[in-house]
Amino acid sequence: MKILAVTNNIIKLREVYKNNLYDYSQYRVPVLSRDTFTFSGKISKKDNNDNDLEVARFYYKPPENEPISNKAEEELIKDTVNNYANYILPCPCCGDIMIPPNIYYKLQREITRNPRTTILLLNKMEKYMHPVEKNIFSMIKKEHKKHPDRNFHEILISKRPQAEKELIREQTEILNSILLLSRNIPKKYQQEINNLIKNTYSQIFNQEPQATFRRKKFIEKLENCIENIENQEMEEHTNYLSPSEKRTYYRIIKKAYKMPTSYNSVPAFIVKYSKQEYSHKNIATRLISGSVATLEHALPSVLGGETSYNNLINECAKCNSTRREDDVMTQLKEHPNMPQNMQRHFNRLIELSKQNKVDKSYICEIAATYYQLSNGKIDIDLSELWE
Ligand SMILES: [Zn+2]
Repeated sequence: MKILAVTNNIIKLREVYKNNLYDYSQYRVPVLSRDTFTFSGKISKKDNNDNDLEVARFYYKPPENEPISNKAEEELIKDTVNNYANYILPCPCCGDIMIPPNIYYKLQREITRNPRTTILLLNKMEKYMHPVEKNIFSMIKKEHKKHPDRNFHEILISKRPQAEKELIREQTEILNSILLLSRNIPKKYQQEINNLIKNTYSQIFNQEPQATFRRKKFIEKLENCIENIENQEMEEHTNYLSPSEKRTYYRIIKKAYKMPTSYNSVPAFIVKYSKQEYSHKNIATRLISGSVATLEHALPSVLGGETSYNNLINECAKCNSTRREDDVMTQLKEHPNMPQNMQRHFNRLIELSKQNKVDKSYICEIAATYYQLSNGKIDIDLSELWE
């Protein structure tokens, strides 16, 4: 018998092989015993080589008197919510359809070093790709026709010189507009920001690898810089900042976050993934990894959010990773269409709840959390739930 996955009391499939050997080697599994697992029927399935397999379905019953530890309970909650994404959901944040986790993990294993078969495999997933990834993928396909021997990494390397130029143009455009915005702050504080921008310019134009520009570092430095200025100003003006000053500081930070990343800029994608440390397989996986459904805490853990049904939602990996530790109000500013996208996400959950695939109470709880965290701006219409 081969164990596919065993976590808590979710129903999992286990494949029964003819020789009846138990293979626990590659999976993290608890040892099975008759008292805790109930056999609940067989279904037939084909393996990769089209052989018939007997697949057994088991239920896990936690032994009585044995409390489920918090950790195990959290794992169960995460599993349950993430499994909802296997029924195909739109991202509540950007609205794009998310790749179901089970399909993603299967594909990830199937990607080979052969560029032709990789393209055939990814063709099926093209409709799920985010705009930058879609763009890169069609460029790769075009190049593949001209140079069938080149893998994805080699194709990106061939595009690097041009992409570098374009990336510098995108970056300097943002730096210029930050400089322009900084003219609205008191003169004596401008120097600090100007110095940071000047250093960043030289990093961007410097070809030395040790001095390469790091987006995250730049944003961190700029945020610190702004915070210092705000504090000094507050002291001088007995704790008062005018609305226009506040607006300027906010706009400067917001601009900095527009600095290109591989998620929002084709040249940034090419420059990043043509580096030596990435491979053909990394790139192929990355073309779909931003679209996979991942678990997001409505209230981030660092802000005290718990791993519970009323705080977990499926969100695409791109939105999840670019959100950082923002609260919902900040997330809404970055994604003004979030209320409508959220509604579409919930409409799908409601549809699934009618087929008994999603728990109604989960839908109510997580909708209530977003209503609260968004000060009523995300006000999901759940009337269909009771139809
Ligand atoms: Zn998204």
